[in-house]
Amino acid sequence: MSKSLLIVDDSATMRKIIMRSVRMSGLQFDSTEEAGNGVEALEKLKASPVDIILCDVNMPEMNGTELVKKVREMDSCRDTKIVMVSTESSQEFIDNLLAEGANDYITKPFTPDKFREKLSPFV
Ligand SMILES: [Mg+2]
Repeated sequence: MSKSLLIVDDSATMRKIIMRSVRMSGLQFDSTEEAGNGVEALEKLKASPVDIILCDVNMPEMNGTELVKKVREMDSCRDTKIVMVSTESSQEFIDNLLAEGANDYITKPFTPDKFREKLSPFV
């Protein structure tokens, strides 16, 4: 099965670290794209939906919570899995994101093993 991944984070350095960790986790993706905020991510998703989104929470223009809501309104992204990646770690905050439609949550700092654990059910 060919799977596509979109990494959304306002830090280019963090996007590279996430991409490297995903690669080190042993999971394989046919295509990996990046976006710097929710607005950019939505533009990419409208052009072509992806299987999995790794999504930061705190970003300019459109944050991760807003992006989750928007993606869940898109028919074309009905099957897209959204895994949040953030330093925000309060249970209430995480529960709210899951209620909005995120599928899972990874807290920073993370390890390649964490990506393996959280993403392997979706690949
Ligand atoms: Mg951020």
